Amino acid sequence: MKLELARKPTPLEKYIFEGKEIWIKRDDMTDFVASGNKIRKLEYLLGDAIEKKSDVVITCGAVQSNHARATNYLSKRLGMRVILYLKEWYPGKNSGNFLLNELMGAEINIVTPKEYEDIDKIMEEKAKKLLEEGRRAYIIPEGGSNYIGSKGYEDAVFEMSRQVDLDYFDAIYVATSSAGTYAGILSGVKKLNLNLEVRGVVVHKKPTEVVREKIEEILDQLGVEDHSGINLIRGFEGKDYAYPSEADLKMIKYVASESGIFLDPVYTSKAFRGTLETMGDQEKVIFIHTGGTFGLFAQIDALEGIL
Ligand SMILES: *Cc1c(COP(=O)(O)O)cnc(C)c1O
Repeated sequence: MKLELARKPTPLEKYIFEGKEIWIKRDDMTDFVASGNKIRKLEYLLGDAIEKKSDVVITCGAVQSNHARATNYLSKRLGMRVILYLKEWYPGKNSGNFLLNELMGAEINIVTPKEYEDIDKIMEEKAKKLLEEGRRAYIIPEGGSNYIGSKGYEDAVFEMSRQVDLDYFDAIYVATSSAGTYAGILSGVKKLNLNLEVRGVVVHKKPTEVVREKIEEILDQLGVEDHSGINLIRGFEGKDYAYPSEADLKMIKYVASESGIFLDPVYTSKAFRGTLETMGDQEKVIFIHTGGTFGLFAQIDALEGIL
């Protein structure tokens, strides 16, 4: 079951950067508190949770996870209890998304990076315990990335196909981490038989093979047997997840000064750099702005360096 939670359709706006047409799909405007890409996944995931008569939602992520913030807000709005497992290793704990989670209230468990390696098991054990107490928990994996969540990004492609003629474009670019967004977009493009490249700019150091396997698994579950066209761009992840380089921070300032659009320090600044630097001959592309705005306020110290 799909819930209608996001403010859709989000605008698809034309900008010119470095002489190229870059149309920005404003999924940073899907909501206020639940803004960004995760709400589209959560429309399906929380719909599934409700169908399964769950009264508790458990999920996980980095301390500054956008997904955790969006899940916390939307689950509460639907009347469900929220339990978060957040990995402690990231700057700005009492700011940005984490601050919003604290203000909204949630059962927050901080886990070490070592513990986080077994996070799926930890969440399952918690769900089992809750079941013994008569509660029914729904576990959402990191980033909401499984085939259920990815349906939200198939829908985003269908939504864009109603806004513009997608055949006009050479490619879609999107930041890629847990890869459910990418998988959904590629699936949507294939289901519409579009001749459109889908490029995922990877924002962490995990091996490309691991990301690709996850995408292939989701494609299979979405009924897409043709796995061609998985196009993952490397070289923009910098030091690692959540560590923006000076070039990323400068990109945030450049795009804000040119357009008033705010990229974030974890995902979209890296992805936008990847877009501009790898477009090559492409003249007209779509960049999916996946949100992350609150993360800016967790990296004020880094940003001060480029003001
Ligand atoms: C989670 C997130 C992404 C990455 O999406 P995945 O589906 O995990 O690949 C990109 N941008 C922002 C702002 C995010 O919060």
